[in-house]
Amino acid sequence: MNTKRKCNPGLLELDLFCKGMKIDRSCDLENDARRVMRTRAGLGSGLEIIIPAHPEDIHMNVPLTEKFVKDSPYALVKRDGRYLVTKEGKDVAAIRLPKQPAFYDQETSSGTLMSRVGTLQGTYLAIYPARVCGYWKPEDKSNCRFCSTGLNVGFSEEGEKRVRDVVETAIAAKEQEGVTFVHFNTGYYDGRELEVVAPYVKAIKEETGLLVGVQCPPCKELSAYHRLKELGVDHLSFCFEFYNPAYFEKYCPGKHKTLTQQAFFDALEYTSKLWGKGRVSGEIIAGIEPIEDTLKAIDYIAGAGAFPTICVFRPTLGTEMEDYPSPRYEDMVIVFRRMYESLIRNTIPIGIAPNIHVSLVVQPTEGKYFIEQKGWSYYAYQCRLFLLRMMYRPLFRLKMMRS
Ligand code: SF4
Repeated sequence: MNTKRKCNPGLLELDLFCKGMKIDRSCDLENDARRVMRTRAGLGSGLEIIIPAHPEDIHMNVPLTEKFVKDSPYALVKRDGRYLVTKEGKDVAAIRLPKQPAFYDQETSSGTLMSRVGTLQGTYLAIYPARVCGYWKPEDKSNCRFCSTGLNVGFSEEGEKRVRDVVETAIAAKEQEGVTFVHFNTGYYDGRELEVVAPYVKAIKEETGLLVGVQCPPCKELSAYHRLKELGVDHLSFCFEFYNPAYFEKYCPGKHKTLTQQAFFDALEYTSKLWGKGRVSGEIIAGIEPIEDTLKAIDYIAGAGAFPTICVFRPTLGTEMEDYPSPRYEDMVIVFRRMYESLIRNTIPIGIAPNIHVSLVVQPTEGKYFIEQKGWSYYAYQCRLFLLRMMYRPLFRLKMMRS
């Protein structure tokens, strides 16, 4: 069967995010796949797969264990040595499974297992460098209701990571897996987040030359972002999660109480100007607040010169929201179509840096799969992105080779 011709890889990715996938007994994930790891906020709780696509494959993390998966029409089957996604028993697409990275079983010079320092999510190295988010303090618990950081940090991964351990893990990931991007995210530490993350950024930049992204709660003293820029941070993201203020207050009580939604908007707008178009992202969750609010959030983020990073809501096990339904696929198609239309309208450069495939979200570049009417603005945007990639990718690679 020719599965290639029938399948729109972007639509398949989105449907798998919404419905998850069962694992047939023919599969041998222990030997063929990357180990399922619950780290950070828990979104990577599923199976890493690669959906073949042109010009770049799609890397995604498919939900496996959440409650809604029991109703999924999708299954993963191994046949004649190949892995196939089937829907209600019919073949949909041949996919690949990324292998377990060798460095996961290596130890740093201090004897820490590297998989407890950083994990690959798609093709980038994800690191939660410091202690668990302050909103998880037992005496004053106000964590985001969808989050499982407090269940993972210090358990399935190290609590505080040594800078040296992080550097050694990043070097191993770069050498063995061709990683180009390290992403740090922190929880809330009473406004000290940028101070906490700075030594890690400095060391990674000096010793590996890798591209670095930082995701911290917003700093109210906006001038502090200049220091981060001087350290060489390439990308910043701000998770305000919901555009509707009532949803922000209800589902992110800690952020509402200590930061406010406006602080996220202020930091996003300020840093977007400081770093330049397409270097900063606003991160939201789709599938909880009304879809009209998600669409407003998308237009707001792109209008500020940033790009939207949209997580399809995943009610991960152990969180307060584990019994919530997964979003409807039909609604999510509208969301991701608007994402790409908004990127085109605001001419936001996306997908310029090499080899950054984020498995936890439908990436901005993958929004093209949701566009039905492709007018001149669509093609002009594609040409622009192509030229930018041609211009900048060799420069990125040169910079990374020097270190
Ligand atoms: S800020 Fe919210 S989502 Fe982020 S780690 Fe803390 S509780 Fe989790």
